[in-house]
Amino acid sequence: MIRKLQVGIIDLVSKKPNKKLFARIMNANFASIMPQVIGVWCEEEGHNVTYICYTGKEDLMKELPQDADIVFIGAFTESALTAYALSNLLRSRGAVTVLGGPHARCYPEDALKYFDYVTGFTDKNIIKEILYDCSPHRPAGLYLDAIHQPKSLPGVKERWKFIEPTLRKAPLIKMVPMLGSLGCPYTCSFCIDSTVAYQPLNFDVMKEDLSFLLTKFKRPLVGWHDPNFGIRFNEYMDAIEEVVPENHIDFIAESSLSLLSEPHVKRLKRNGFGAMLPGIESWFDLGNKSKTGSLTGMDKVKHIAEQVNMILRYIPYVQTNFVLGLDSDKGEEPFELTKKFVDLTPGAFPGYSLLSAFGQAAPLNLEYQQLNRVIPFPFHFLDNNHAMNIKPKNYSWPEFYSNTISLGEHTFSWGAILKRLAATKAFIPRWMNVVRAISEEGFGRVAHNKKILMHLNSDIKFRDYFEQETTELPQFYMDIIKNEVGPLWHWLPEGAIFHDQNAYLKSSAKRIAV
Ligand code: SF4
Repeated sequence: MIRKLQVGIIDLVSKKPNKKLFARIMNANFASIMPQVIGVWCEEEGHNVTYICYTGKEDLMKELPQDADIVFIGAFTESALTAYALSNLLRSRGAVTVLGGPHARCYPEDALKYFDYVTGFTDKNIIKEILYDCSPHRPAGLYLDAIHQPKSLPGVKERWKFIEPTLRKAPLIKMVPMLGSLGCPYTCSFCIDSTVAYQPLNFDVMKEDLSFLLTKFKRPLVGWHDPNFGIRFNEYMDAIEEVVPENHIDFIAESSLSLLSEPHVKRLKRNGFGAMLPGIESWFDLGNKSKTGSLTGMDKVKHIAEQVNMILRYIPYVQTNFVLGLDSDKGEEPFELTKKFVDLTPGAFPGYSLLSAFGQAAPLNLEYQQLNRVIPFPFHFLDNNHAMNIKPKNYSWPEFYSNTISLGEHTFSWGAILKRLAATKAFIPRWMNVVRAISEEGFGRVAHNKKILMHLNSDIKFRDYFEQETTELPQFYMDIIKNEVGPLWHWLPEGAIFHDQNAYLKSSAKRIAV
């Protein structure tokens, strides 16, 4: 007879205690789908499940499952140290621990030091195998990886018992996470989904879920977690239109600009799409995903500004995503062009990411490692903003940070904030744009980058770390980790702050040798 297990599931939406306004309002809306899916699968196997979505406002030490036999933790890389410390603490209480999610996929070699199981692609068979075995694997854990992503996943109805308590933590905006497809047919070399084959999930499950949500909310809000929403655009829209009366559900999705033609955008509006997050990434590269082909520089700025303004005529909230520091960029021009774009599209909210290499996430990372360009910043800072772990090809560090600060100051100046406010008509988008600009994401990042630049210019040891002259972590970063990990600091396993930034390259070399 199979033993009935007490299963704990922790979704680390936040890497640290966080009671700031934006986090309190929004974090519960960023819950991941896979921890909820695993909860459903564990219950289907007859086990008891306790699920925690950690948004930063809970007292994690109090909420941790006390008597769990096994605990699954889902984490992005920025939460890895919190996950490692939690695993250590839970193991000391007798639990077996499992890590899944993006960090497990990007840095399996490192995670195996701290978990009994680490999972790559995860399907129900992998979970069944873990539950069946459920035993400590130490000092090195077991790595389990399915051949491909699962063909189907439990929908909202089955995940509802985990979604509902999570949304209770969200005071104003309550966004239900849904997924209609996995992977992406595009091949942006920096992206974790570029190597995952595109695969739509079952549209019947999706329709059932949308009908179900209409019984739960007067006007539901759905956040699509598809990496690139709307690849099979007409099929998607047909499915939505079949079960949702026109404009009765609000939707948010990430989609590439190439999919956002005016007829598509009109249809999205008709169906209640209120926010879109297209990626522009660069003025000199990645033209295929914006369908701008060989257009570069100012021509691309004007072309895309026109398209974004067209989208804004139908969709009230548009976030345009950029990557700063790509190898195709040099000098001030890319930053100045982005400022120009900000001026030309006053209603859009620009999201900036610093070029980052997350372990095995993308094939391009192998090249960065071969060229010894990856800096071993602790995982805690790998959130696309608090550290750039690739030495820029065409910039000195002070030059890069000066340009990034100047762009941030331009984007989040009071003049730009007021113009964005004036150009945005709907209430929630207007409010969101202001809160995001004056909080961590806008003012906060500019202030952080100024500190980095100041240290780069005045502290030789700090600069040496960036220049790869030393691997000794500057105290500045150590202090932040200690402060933010908080009560879990004492549970951080020895050596967990440091990782081998070239582990991917070494493991690939080993695979070839075998
Ligand atoms: S279009 Fe988006 S999801 Fe697809 S590979 Fe490029 S960045 Fe990734």
